[in-house]
Amino acid sequence: MKKNLSVLFVAAECAPFFKVGGLADVIGSLPYALQQRGIDVAVLLPKYGVLDAQPHTLRTTSHQFSVDAEGTTYTVGVWRSELPQSSIPVYFLEQDTFFAQGNVYLQQLTAPSSERKRMRRFAFFARAVAQAIMHLDVQPDVVHFHDWHTGLLPTELQLLVPTHNVYAKIKSVLTIHNIGYQGRYPMRDVAKFFGWNRREQRTIAAYALKRGELNFLNLAVRASDAVTTVSPTHAREIRTRSYGYDLERTLRKKGVTGILNGIDVDVFNPQKDAALVRRYSVAGFVKGKRANKKALQRELGLSENPQVPLIAVIGRLAYQKGIELLIANSQWLVEQGAQVAVLGSGLPDYEQSLCKLAAAYPRHIFAHIGFNAKLAQQLYAGSDILVMPSRYEPCGLGQMIAMRYGTVPVARSTGGLADTVVSHPHHSANGFLFTAPTAAGLRHALSQALEVYTRQPKTWKKIVRNGMRGDYSWNTSAKEYVKLYHTVVRGRE
Ligand code: ADP
Repeated sequence: MKKNLSVLFVAAECAPFFKVGGLADVIGSLPYALQQRGIDVAVLLPKYGVLDAQPHTLRTTSHQFSVDAEGTTYTVGVWRSELPQSSIPVYFLEQDTFFAQGNVYLQQLTAPSSERKRMRRFAFFARAVAQAIMHLDVQPDVVHFHDWHTGLLPTELQLLVPTHNVYAKIKSVLTIHNIGYQGRYPMRDVAKFFGWNRREQRTIAAYALKRGELNFLNLAVRASDAVTTVSPTHAREIRTRSYGYDLERTLRKKGVTGILNGIDVDVFNPQKDAALVRRYSVAGFVKGKRANKKALQRELGLSENPQVPLIAVIGRLAYQKGIELLIANSQWLVEQGAQVAVLGSGLPDYEQSLCKLAAAYPRHIFAHIGFNAKLAQQLYAGSDILVMPSRYEPCGLGQMIAMRYGTVPVARSTGGLADTVVSHPHHSANGFLFTAPTAAGLRHALSQALEVYTRQPKTWKKIVRNGMRGDYSWNTSAKEYVKLYHTVVRGRE
C-alpha cells in the first residue's frame, strides 16, 4: 500500500497552546486541512514555562534523549497532546534550562542578555528537534519549519547525515511569516554554543555568514529545499529592496512561493462563537452586530449609540503595523464622531500614546494593553470597521477574521491585505484600501469608509455581506502546500 506523505511542523507558537500572533493560528489550523488531504502531519514545539499542561491534557511520554550544547549534555523530555478534536499529534520538547523561563519570545526581558537567551533558546530547539526525529515515532518526508526561530534546523539535519542515514532523505520547507525578524547573532557565539568543529563551521559558513554574523533566517532560506511566504503579493514584495530586509537577492536567487494563509473557519465563526452576546449569520448580521456592539460599548465605557461608527484595532503594537498613522488620526476620528477601540501590546511609546488618548476621550477611545482572546472576538463582532495600516503585512489574519464577522477592513494595500481586501468602489468590494503609508493616506480611506457607512447604508451592507461570504478556509492553500511537498519529495528521488 502506498504510504501517506509524512510532514513534521516545527514552530515557536501554536494555538491554542500558546499564541503571540498569526503564526500560532497558522500552526494550529493548517495541519487539519493537510490531514484531510491525506498528509500524516505532526507538530513539534518547545514546552515553555508559560504553558499550563492541564487544560491542554498534556501527557508525559517515555521518550527521552540527550542533546549536546555549551559543552554540556542536556536531557530532553517529550510531552504529547493533540490539536483539539483531532488525532494530530503535538509533541512538546521539555528542557527547563532553555524553555522554562518567561513567555515565547522572552519579550518581557529587556536586558541586553535577553538577546543571548533568545539565541540559546532557539538554537537549542533546532538541535533538539533534529535529535527528536530519531527518537519519536515520526519519520518525516518533509520538515516544514517556520520563521527564524527554527532557522538552524535544516543545517542541523544536514550535519547529522554522515552519521545517521535517516536524515539523508528528509526534505525541508521554510515558510517566512515575518521577514522583519531574522535572528542575527555573532557566529562565534553560536559556534561556541554548539561546539561546532571545523567541518561543521565550514558547512554553516558556506551558507550565510556576513561580517562574522550568523543570520538564522538567511541560513534557513539558503539551506532549505523550498521557501514559501504567506501571500502571493508578499512573495513578490520580499524580492524587492523595499520589502526584502536585505534578503531580497538571496530570495530572488532561491525563488519563493506565495501561499495565502487561511483561518480556522470553525473557530472564527460568528454563528458559533461563545464569546458573543448574540450569534449571527450573514442573513441576520444587522441584528446580530447591533446587539454585540451595544454590549461592547457598555463593556468598554464608550457612549452607547448604535449609529456611531466603532473602529477596532487588534494586534501587536509594532512599527510594522503602522500604529502611529492611527494615532495621528485619532483626534480627527473623535471629531468625526467615531469611536476607536484598541487591543494590543508592543512598543511602550505606542502603548502610552494610546492610553493617553483613551484617558482624554473616555467616551470615544478605549485602549486595552495586553493579550485577550475573548475581547478580540467581541471586538471583531461588535465593531463596524477594523483598521490595519500596516507598513508591510505578510498575510494578516485580522482582516479575514473581521470580514467573517461582518466588520469592514480599512487597510493598507500590501502583502496579504492586498490579496484579500477588494476596495470600494467595486461590485465585489469588501473593504477599503490605501497605498501611501502615511497618516493622510489612512485618513483618506477612513473618510471614504465613514462616508459610505453614514450616507450609503445599502452599499455598506453589501460590502459587509461580500466580506462575510468570502472563503477564508484553508481549502485552496492546503492543496498548494500538498503539491509543494510532493514536488520537493520527488526532487530527492
Ligand atoms: P501578526 O502575526 O503579525 O501578529 P496577524 O494579523 O497575522 O498578525 O495575526 C494576529 C492574530 O493575533 C490575530 O488572530 C489577532 O486577532 C490576534 N491578536 C493579536 N493581538 C492580540 C491581542 N492583544 N489580543 C488578542 N488577540 C490578538
